[in-house]
Amino acid sequence: MDSFNEMAELLFADITKTPADYEEEYPPRNLEEGAIVTRFAPSPTGFLHFGGLFAAFIEKTAAKTTNGIFYLRIEDTDKKREVENGVSLIVKGLNDFGIEIDEGMLSETEEKGAYGPYTQSKRTPIYQAYVKSLVQKGLAYPCFMSEDELNEVRQRQEADKLLPGIYGEFAKYRDITVEEAKQRIENGEEYVVRLKSPGSADKRIKFKDAIKGEIEMPENILDVVLLKKDGTPTYHFAHAVDDHLMRTTHVIRGDEWISSVPIHLQLFYLLGFKAPKYVHISPIMKEENGGKRKLSKRKDPEAAVSYYSEQGFPKGAIWEYLMTLANSNYEDWRLANKDADIEEFKFALNKMSKAGALFDLVKLTDISKNYISTLNAEEVYEMVTEWAQANNEKLYDLLVNDEEYAKAIFAIERGNAKPRKDIGTWSDVENYVSYFYRELWDRKRDFAENLTNEDMIEILERYKEVYDENGAAEDWFPTVRDMAVEMGYAKAPKEYKKNPDDYKGHVGDVAGVIRVAVTGRRNTPDLYEIMQVLGGEVVTKRIDEAIDLLRA
Ligand code: GLU
Repeated sequence: MDSFNEMAELLFADITKTPADYEEEYPPRNLEEGAIVTRFAPSPTGFLHFGGLFAAFIEKTAAKTTNGIFYLRIEDTDKKREVENGVSLIVKGLNDFGIEIDEGMLSETEEKGAYGPYTQSKRTPIYQAYVKSLVQKGLAYPCFMSEDELNEVRQRQEADKLLPGIYGEFAKYRDITVEEAKQRIENGEEYVVRLKSPGSADKRIKFKDAIKGEIEMPENILDVVLLKKDGTPTYHFAHAVDDHLMRTTHVIRGDEWISSVPIHLQLFYLLGFKAPKYVHISPIMKEENGGKRKLSKRKDPEAAVSYYSEQGFPKGAIWEYLMTLANSNYEDWRLANKDADIEEFKFALNKMSKAGALFDLVKLTDISKNYISTLNAEEVYEMVTEWAQANNEKLYDLLVNDEEYAKAIFAIERGNAKPRKDIGTWSDVENYVSYFYRELWDRKRDFAENLTNEDMIEILERYKEVYDENGAAEDWFPTVRDMAVEMGYAKAPKEYKKNPDDYKGHVGDVAGVIRVAVTGRRNTPDLYEIMQVLGGEVVTKRIDEAIDLLRA
């Protein structure tokens, strides 16, 4: 046995499988030409950032539009950052917004797909087999440097303004002999396994990023850690092995990883893998005091995906917004294709912005209002109920208690050419429906100020006489108008404006008094439709109550 093989056996005596075995176990995928295989690979840190959802959406869309595969891999190699139920939180975040995976983790423990395990902590023997193969080729070695030694190196490099890390003269164990390694291991010394980087300081590498374009950087010369003291891999190494074995074609990830690409390309090369295409997404930015900064987990509640679930943004609205952020030509496409399914849009990775997309909650809310205005009453009912079940028990009970009534409320002014846009998120619904439910309604005295109480009482008394709960929609306004004219109000605002002294007000004022009496509000959807849903008994009772209130 030559010394590299001996070293490999010393370090990995119980690793018997070889890279060739894994190549066979995870064969290339049988997909059509151009199919993108990509993944969302978060750490289970207990927080799903809106930027993560954005990345997952891009990845999913890229895979779907090419008949490829989108999978979820959990990168839990950093045990310090992990929290309990971290995986469930990610799975829920993706589920809430309809980002379905083809393969990968479905819960803390379940997964689907033939390229797993999809959790890195379950893949240790695989990584070790590949590190073993690198040791056999003299491309990796055990490093016994202590924390103190590493600190010393760091301080020296800082003082001398040198590139930080282990390389050249700092790589103390680069040429360690099998004998020495054996001795140290027998002494109980801990070690990591490092790459023996063949890079040189005067060489540069070039690669093409699908978003950022051609990028040139110095070649990697660092003997980076491949396996940590506990035998688990670093992010860099796990990335190379996993994305190769899971047959990823496109690594789509945050651009904080660009600086690591030289390490990654070197690893792919040394392991004999074909490198994937890199697609680095710029972070989502937020405008602040005229400048821009990253959307921050610490400062912005809307950085957490859970915020959108709790507020009740429907997934269709979130998709619309994410696509708007992803491809700047989407908004024009949407204007030209109002009723088309979002999936008909030709998404392009290379049309993504090089600078970070700008996050705008007002715009998202507008998009959401628009989206909700296109839904039918049935859909609104289903979505609100589902949201309320988890977020507003009182509302949930009212909605399920009388489904027909709730659907009738949501049907008001829906399906018109110009639908109303009163609801932006499901948390707006309680207020929106409040005057339809005794349990929610808190009558406000919101009458306009241009009429006296006596005038308003007179209007309501007269209206009670002409009100017909079975009246037809087209008769509603003429009835109010005739009544208004009889009482000395102008039949249209225009006429009133011409001769304000001739009238007490105009028909709009009269209708307004009825509206406030019935709903407590000055601004509502179509009053006739509202009264139909409330029914004659409630309408009459409310008018009586209003009269009492005005008399008091
Ligand atoms: N686990 C890495 C992260 O959370 C994933 C980066 C990648 O997608 O390769 O940032």
